[in-house]
Amino acid sequence: MSTGGALVLFSGGQDSTVCLAWALDRYPHVETLGFSYGQRHAVELTQRHVVRDALRESFPSWAPRLGPDHEIALPELGRISETALTRETEIEMTKAGLPSTFVPGRNLLFLIYAAALAYRRGLTTLVAGVCETDYSGYPDCRNDTIRAQEQAIALGLDKPFRIETPLMYVDKAGTWAMAETLGGAALVDLVREKTHTCYLGDRTHRHDWGWGCGTCPACELRARGWEIWNAAKAHPSR
Ligand code: ZN
Repeated sequence: MSTGGALVLFSGGQDSTVCLAWALDRYPHVETLGFSYGQRHAVELTQRHVVRDALRESFPSWAPRLGPDHEIALPELGRISETALTRETEIEMTKAGLPSTFVPGRNLLFLIYAAALAYRRGLTTLVAGVCETDYSGYPDCRNDTIRAQEQAIALGLDKPFRIETPLMYVDKAGTWAMAETLGGAALVDLVREKTHTCYLGDRTHRHDWGWGCGTCPACELRARGWEIWNAAKAHPSR
């Protein structure tokens, strides 16, 4: 097990919940951080607490390691980025070849705020659920970006500093598999029932893979991952 503590960027979605479980499995002390920035799927801010409570209840060995939760409000981020995540517009591909859900530099900003908080809390590792595999073209989810920022933060804070990205090369099917490896069927069920991924904030439609509208890009990725993972379990030789 690692020494020292970790701060997990925790949105209450599937990816960051698996990252939180990953961190609880490795670090003696884990704190969580969420951001409110006027996102349309603000329901995820509610689910964060539901997921944390469920993890504490279902996994007694992790419970004592789960430290305080923090929330930072970044309303200006929503104001300066006219995107489909914060406005009532259609989610589509833009002229720049990026989905309209792209908030420019969002993860860079999140990581800087997280690093400042981690410094104050005496935590030397950040854990982020960014992923290059399903990254939808978000350039601030790429490993090159994260490694450059890790270096910038370590230099800027004048401290050894790590940014762990356990999902960087894992696709959505692999994320379901990781949940099973870390916490068995109980963690898979917790992810299905409690986490929130849907960009539209829909928690009225229940699918095999969890709650959501079923048609936005986030729901489609989550659903496809679920199908691929289940198909692979049914036919392990393929
Ligand atoms: Zn959706």
